[in-house]
Amino acid sequence: HKTDINKVTDYIWEIPKSFRPAMRVPARVLASEPLLDDIMGDRSLVQLVNVASLPGIKGAALVMPDVHEGYGFPIGGVAATIFPDGAISPGGIGYDINCGVRLLTSNLKRDHIKDKTEALSKEMYAQIPSGMGKGGQIRLSEQEMDQVLLKGAEWAIEKGYGKKEDLAYMESNGRLQDADPSLVSAMAKKRGTDQLGTIGSGNHFVEVDYIEEVYDETIAKAYGLCKDQIVVMIHTGSRGLGHQIATDYTKQIITAMPRYGMQVPDRELACVPFNSIEGQNYFKAMCAAANYAWCNREIISWEARKAWANIFGAKVEPLKLMYDLAHNIAKIETHLVHGEKAQLIVHRKGATRAFGPGFKELPQDYKAVGQPVIIPGSMGTFSFVLAGTPISEELTFGSCCHGAGRRLSRTAAKKQVNAPVLQEKLKEKGIFVTAGSYKGIAEEAPIAYKDVNMVVQTISDSGIAKKVAKLRPVAVIKG
Ligand code: 5GP
Ligand code: MN
Ligand code: MN
Repeated sequence: HKTDINKVTDYIWEIPKSFRPAMRVPARVLASEPLLDDIMGDRSLVQLVNVASLPGIKGAALVMPDVHEGYGFPIGGVAATIFPDGAISPGGIGYDINCGVRLLTSNLKRDHIKDKTEALSKEMYAQIPSGMGKGGQIRLSEQEMDQVLLKGAEWAIEKGYGKKEDLAYMESNGRLQDADPSLVSAMAKKRGTDQLGTIGSGNHFVEVDYIEEVYDETIAKAYGLCKDQIVVMIHTGSRGLGHQIATDYTKQIITAMPRYGMQVPDRELACVPFNSIEGQNYFKAMCAAANYAWCNREIISWEARKAWANIFGAKVEPLKLMYDLAHNIAKIETHLVHGEKAQLIVHRKGATRAFGPGFKELPQDYKAVGQPVIIPGSMGTFSFVLAGTPISEELTFGSCCHGAGRRLSRTAAKKQVNAPVLQEKLKEKGIFVTAGSYKGIAEEAPIAYKDVNMVVQTISDSGIAKKVAKLRPVAVIKG
């Protein structure tokens, strides 16, 4: 009930620890009041209260304004547990490990591509395999698979499927050092054999956008963005391999949990101490899946670059990576908790990092302005680029939302949307949507998502990230 929620500021709402005996920290919602009312329409706040009882959780259990119900943990959630013996929970990371978004920039403007939009979208669709379970051109041997899991995006670059300059513009340089391929099951590796360079189904996409508005010229300039510029956005993760790792370890962790005396109100929150054998094994396998995802997004970029050259000619300037950001991952980070520095296991599920200026992992040219945050909206509306601030480090363990967030379930969307009609309407608006199935289009219709303007406004008003640019789609390739 809303009476159980205290207003902290216009954008922060808190369910106090006293609400349930099992809660170890308060639960906090980052949202404007209208968004909060919307959020109360599903089980996400019940799930958030459950997350607040996670063993070793610090500060507060948090959700972003794009929050919606997920497996155990809400999507759009952040939970930081104490290192090294706090809980690690696969449910707090999600099944698509290192699902993430990257943005590539071009030197072409809206006018340059006007007559070629349809051809470009067809060529992108031809070059980039999409659809559920769909495989690509690359078949990995067992040895190659281990190298991918160890090296992430670097593997793609070594093999000629990527660009060395890209590495500096990826979160963690596209590689987590703790990955251990020997902890990834044969089944997971099998599912990943031929899925590099593929986007998968439904919510995943490759999109061509133009920059409709620039809000902050200085930051836009640092990121290489300007008005009317054409950019390419890629959203996908670790495909069947990551899903299998999540499935394998969720099972193991459910079995192991009682041995560690960890209790949680919902079995879907299953967890073990980070420094237990099971916790370490899962973490190292999760890192391997994250590396696979970075390698995947790098190879998809290579395919998009091929399509780009095929349409605009070999002499066109190649697409440049602006940034690549994970939104389903756990990271070991240092943050202030009640004024004291603490090492934490930060679970972000449907949430991204949003570090401010000076963050050590940032490439040199972004150091002064902060980390880019990429927020996709929907295929028919807008997407945004923001920049992280020091306020996110105070309020949200340096985190931000990852999208507009679903407001309709897939089933509900399918009932309400006539896909061929929608596709035609979008075409009239200048947006070419290519998808493997009408089902996919219906499930992903703009009305299935919250109003991205409202979500982004909450983020910007609360100060955790600054608006930099607004993107409008012209061609969308959907899984
Ligand atoms: P998720 O990772 O939760 O599946 O999706 C992240 C976000 O992507 C969603 O919350 C939604 O706002 C956004 N999104 C989904 N489909 C599309 C699309 O086709 N284009 C754009 N720009 N955004 C999308
Ligand atoms: Mn995903
Ligand atoms: Mn995603």
